[in-house]
Amino acid sequence: AGPDEADEAVRGTCEDASVCKRFAVSVGYWTDPYIQYFVRQAKERKAPEINRGYYARVHGVSYLIKAFLKRTECNSQIVNLGAGMDTLFWRLKDENLLPRKYFEVDFPMIVARKIHNIKSKPPLSKPIMESHSGDSLLIDSHSLDSSRYSIVGADLRFSSDLEEKLKKHNLDIHLPTLLVAECVLVYMTPQQSANLLKWAASTFPVAMVINYEQVNMRDRFGQIMIENLQRRQCTLAGVELCSSLESQRERLLLNGWENARAIDMMKVYNFLPQADVKRIEALEFLDEKELFEQLMQHYCICWASKDSSNLGLANIDF
Ligand code: SAM
Repeated sequence: AGPDEADEAVRGTCEDASVCKRFAVSVGYWTDPYIQYFVRQAKERKAPEINRGYYARVHGVSYLIKAFLKRTECNSQIVNLGAGMDTLFWRLKDENLLPRKYFEVDFPMIVARKIHNIKSKPPLSKPIMESHSGDSLLIDSHSLDSSRYSIVGADLRFSSDLEEKLKKHNLDIHLPTLLVAECVLVYMTPQQSANLLKWAASTFPVAMVINYEQVNMRDRFGQIMIENLQRRQCTLAGVELCSSLESQRERLLLNGWENARAIDMMKVYNFLPQADVKRIEALEFLDEKELFEQLMQHYCICWASKDSSNLGLANIDF
């Protein structure tokens, strides 16, 4: 596949992630009143282990995000890298947990689609208007900028372009900043993801980064596992480098971050509030417990911080 085709396949992963999330929401794994406005309902059922996996992913990531918002008393900003059709902005607004400003970045083509949905669906546009004050908000086909929500089309592999575009939307590098990369870095080469992490660490004096992605991809024969659950053929370029939890931590530490931690998703699953886990385990029968555990061990959450203001970001943990 040429570079354009490869990028196209990566953009397709955005659709996959949201369709899976919408399906899990429709079964009752968690509530998200907004995802229905971004993607169609899945044509076929998703396997229970996939739904549970997404449950742990969504809850694990949002657990850390809320811990950051609590420590910073929402006096901070969030930059969601490769946000796709993520609905976190709307969910945080409903919970009265919006940071000072919430930014999203993705390829211009994805951003154009997201903006189209926002413009044509009042349940999406109303919360943006409600949280907006001052001048009329800026909107064109590839970017939208309001007081609290902003979305920009940019390629994450070019951080100077990214920084310039975010600054045009009033990114304040001196505010405590949370960068979120949920299933994104794995689509770049090791060099490109390292550059992005390094850019973030050197740009924001007080910051935290959360990364969710594949890990432990080598099976017992030393082969890189083919993600049989991921039907699209994407180049999992980052897999080689970050093949273990230790190398995930190392990558963060080597690129300017401190207090780096990495845990696999089975651990995250076990840390989640047990009453809710019990509730979701009753939703669908899961036959192959062992297969589920293996699947979960192939994904991880890693996070790290830089905290010269002593906000306690280093203590954030499950
Ligand atoms: N973070 C979202 C979620 O978890 O639901 C979407 C995840 S999806 C698997 C990966 C996203 O990263 C896609 O929306 C894709 O377009 C975006 N992405 C990957 N590489 C990118 C790049 N170089 N620049 C901008 N966006 C990129």
